[in-house]
Amino acid sequence: MTADPECLFCRIAAGEIPATLVHEDEQVLAFRDIAPRAPTHILLIPRDHIRSAAELTDAHAPLVGHLFAVAAQVARDQGVAEAGYRLVTNIGSGGGQTVDHLHVHLLGGRPMTWPPG
Ligand code: 5GP
Ligand code: ZN
Repeated sequence: MTADPECLFCRIAAGEIPATLVHEDEQVLAFRDIAPRAPTHILLIPRDHIRSAAELTDAHAPLVGHLFAVAAQVARDQGVAEAGYRLVTNIGSGGGQTVDHLHVHLLGGRPMTWPPG
């Protein structure tokens, strides 16, 4: 397990910075976004410091599968699964990524437009 002591999400995973957790296990954490863009806005992260989805390899397949399974469970728990919701991961500054630790946004509780801005 790698961690970057300077990384905000590594520090949340380590419990050094508080967050409102909705799920926690050995591999994955889910917590509420501090600046929600939808009634339900949750971030799912691996505990491991992976900078973005662009760093993923075939070796990460179990982790990524687990992360998406957790996302689906969290969506059910939060009551947004039936209406539908969005999972999105931003990559690089042009992709809108502001925290360089892989995270998937779970957005729900309102209709989503397409394409995203
Ligand atoms: P990105 O822009 O990299 O795709 O998403 C980063 C997300 O992290 C943003 O939606 C932002 O609101 C959220 N965020 C930034 N700092 C914090 C924090 O300290 N705590 C929590 N819970 N979310 C944060
Ligand atoms: Zn990190």
